[in-house]
Amino acid sequence: MALLEVRNARLYYATTKGVVKAVDGISFELYEGETLAVVGESGSGKTTLGKLLTRVWERNVSVADGEIYLEGKEILHITEEEFRREIRWRKIAMVPQASMNALNPVIKIGDQMIEPLLMQGTSRDDALKMAMDALESVGLPRDLVNRYPHQLSGGMKQRVIIAMSIMAHPKVVILDEPTSALDVITQANIMNLLKKLKWEFKLSYIFVTHDLSLASELADSVAIMYAGKLVEIGGAEDIYGNPSHPYTQGLISSVPTLRVDKNLSFIPGEVPSLINPPAGCRFHPRCPFYRDRDYLKGLCDAKEPPMMELGSKAGRKHLVACWLYK
Ligand code: SF4
Repeated sequence: MALLEVRNARLYYATTKGVVKAVDGISFELYEGETLAVVGESGSGKTTLGKLLTRVWERNVSVADGEIYLEGKEILHITEEEFRREIRWRKIAMVPQASMNALNPVIKIGDQMIEPLLMQGTSRDDALKMAMDALESVGLPRDLVNRYPHQLSGGMKQRVIIAMSIMAHPKVVILDEPTSALDVITQANIMNLLKKLKWEFKLSYIFVTHDLSLASELADSVAIMYAGKLVEIGGAEDIYGNPSHPYTQGLISSVPTLRVDKNLSFIPGEVPSLINPPAGCRFHPRCPFYRDRDYLKGLCDAKEPPMMELGSKAGRKHLVACWLYK
């Protein structure tokens, strides 16, 4: 059984310009101890997907729907009180984007770390011990609880945030661009730390990133998002070795490699507005196949392609939403 099962998940925001369909009917599964990398450009909805899974969303949400099962229990429609008490931090934790910069400069690290646990009813002594244990797990000294954020380097602050995410021993950790704004050496250290923690605590990760090469460091499976939709998902071997959606192919051919001399290409245009996305396949205004093949006219621009199965390796289905495979 999947540890996390997401079925037709949607998260819409009401704005003065219209309804933003940031996550629009997404389904996937995550297995224990595995990492699913969610990859896409800015505006693809990947960060919003993390917010949907942790129910940390803005006040102007107009639709939060679908089904999300964690260890077989539906968690999207339980009360906020039950979610806060039993799920957030304890079962699903998140390392939000640029969160190391969100540490309060005038509050000690320890006090910031234990706050969510105190709110859930853990005693101060127990919470402090959990915080110190977590700091030790990420390679920081236990007495760091008594220091202030300005006394730490960027890499240490990011380790603190990661320690916060694992301190209540969650099953699933959502990592949203966990190494952005770090230099490459610190980035490599953090990636190694994430691998160590995954193994040590049998964690399952949802690794949200725009960086396909970074995703390959951790991913067992990869999901490609475009304009609020999932367009391709499969085992890492399938996605990197046999990218099938034209958007995935474009992303992969725009990644430079050290060993192979190749011409880099780019995907012309930009991610469309999620208020009025293109009809049919949302990628069609940028798709080279749609431009070049007449039989796709009137199809790609009119009907949304369903997810189609291309095969399966090691129990991981390779699925793609593209009319080329019908
Ligand atoms: Fe391109 Fe059509 Fe496939 Fe969309 S469905 S990616 S427009 S070929």
